[in-house]
Amino acid sequence: MQRVVMKFGGTSLGIVANLTRALALIESRLARDAHAPVVVVSALSGATDLLVRFADVPHERTRLAEAFTERHRAHAEAAGLPGALDDALADWRVRAAGAADRPMRDATRDALLASGEMLSAALVASALAARGVAARAWHAGIAGLVTDDRHGAAHPLPASRARLAASLPPSREVAVVTGFVGQTSDGQTTTLGRGGSDFSAAWVGAALAVDEIEIWTDTSGMLSADPRVVPEARPVPELSFTEASELAYFGAKVLHPKTLLPAIERGIPVRVLNTARPQDPGSRITAMAAAPPGTWWVKSIASRSGITAVTIVSSRMLMAHGFLARVFEVFARHHLVVDLVTTSEVSISVTLDDTQGLDAALADLEGIGEVEVRSGLAIVAVVGDGAPTQVGLAGQVFSLLGGIAVPVEMISQGASRVNLSFVVREEHATAAIRLLHRGLGLESHEPQRAPTR
Ligand code: ADP
Ligand code: ASP
Ligand code: MG
Repeated sequence: MQRVVMKFGGTSLGIVANLTRALALIESRLARDAHAPVVVVSALSGATDLLVRFADVPHERTRLAEAFTERHRAHAEAAGLPGALDDALADWRVRAAGAADRPMRDATRDALLASGEMLSAALVASALAARGVAARAWHAGIAGLVTDDRHGAAHPLPASRARLAASLPPSREVAVVTGFVGQTSDGQTTTLGRGGSDFSAAWVGAALAVDEIEIWTDTSGMLSADPRVVPEARPVPELSFTEASELAYFGAKVLHPKTLLPAIERGIPVRVLNTARPQDPGSRITAMAAAPPGTWWVKSIASRSGITAVTIVSSRMLMAHGFLARVFEVFARHHLVVDLVTTSEVSISVTLDDTQGLDAALADLEGIGEVEVRSGLAIVAVVGDGAPTQVGLAGQVFSLLGGIAVPVEMISQGASRVNLSFVVREEHATAAIRLLHRGLGLESHEPQRAPTR
């Protein structure tokens, strides 16, 4: 290949054995490809959690600053690079000591949160240099990743493409770029949201038109379910962009939900690989064709908890023009993002992930109909290209759930070719996923065929 992006997550860098493997993987890529890979790094595992707490809880700062410094100092030493981060950590201590005695917000908070990625970029660049590999650490914002100013959830601006391409031309020097962070056009550091390094990697990869975006993590690919829920979950070798996007959106933490957008735009394959087991094939995510007709090919099940459902019942809705428009206008005005929607003749139910602004919206919705709010729910998404359009899948899913008496609160089927989703109470989600994983045959390698009738 000409050039790839390699993104290493927190556990790939924060455990010495994995860091060593990551360095070897970078070197072997460098030996194989025409140009050096662009390496995108996350903070060491646990580092961003410490920083978030530091930002939020002023009275714990002394202890947290010490823990953060010691984590990095000890890690550099264990990796055979004693002192490599001393200057960077000294700067960090000055910044920490200067923090005003109140919770941090916006630009101040983002500048602090970026420290985790800055330190791990510095560590990886020095480790490469110590192995005789030309490498340079970059703050992604300085490298050209310009974003809007939504601190904590910033989105890259189109102008970053040309800027990144100009600062990171093809070369034999490994650019080690911070994931998760960017900067506004006036130079303030921003962050892209928790888990955002995957998105950074994809954005940088698309800007540089690389041949492949590799996400190196702690599982051998995107698995058939969250391994913390289903220990026997297995890697899915091939996924389409749509399948992987739905899984990421509905809770497969292995990819940040926005990761695939830039890859889709440029048609760049994304691979999810295991740093600790680089020989495993992992998952390949491309614009591949749909499953053959007649197969279900359910590939994976994802879920997201903390979901709230809002139901609006109005007898006036019956045959009325504009009812749905009025309901959605209220959600839009209060910046509430709706995921699933189901309607009946006299009611509409929607699910919300983030309920900030809901109280104000409820007052407006009450003018339209009777409103009921249920929280503590989970969305479960059964994903596989073509699966929901096959006769029999819904029947099997819901009869399996009926068999263990899991009540289904809402169903959304048919809107998407790849995703059959439903809502259950949070406490039922694990049992539902385990049962479906087994019942739909996700443990086996073979694509699941629709039953012949
Ligand atoms: P990284 O630090 O490499 O970015 P993350 O912790 O963000 O890693 O994401 C990897 C984790 O995502 C896995 O260890 C696993 O617990 C979780 N996960 C949830 N759903 C899936 C899935 N379908 N496939 C793989 N991992 C998943
Ligand atoms: N370090 C950041 C986080 O923990 C970004 C990432 O890991 O992708 O959220
Ligand atoms: Mg992650």
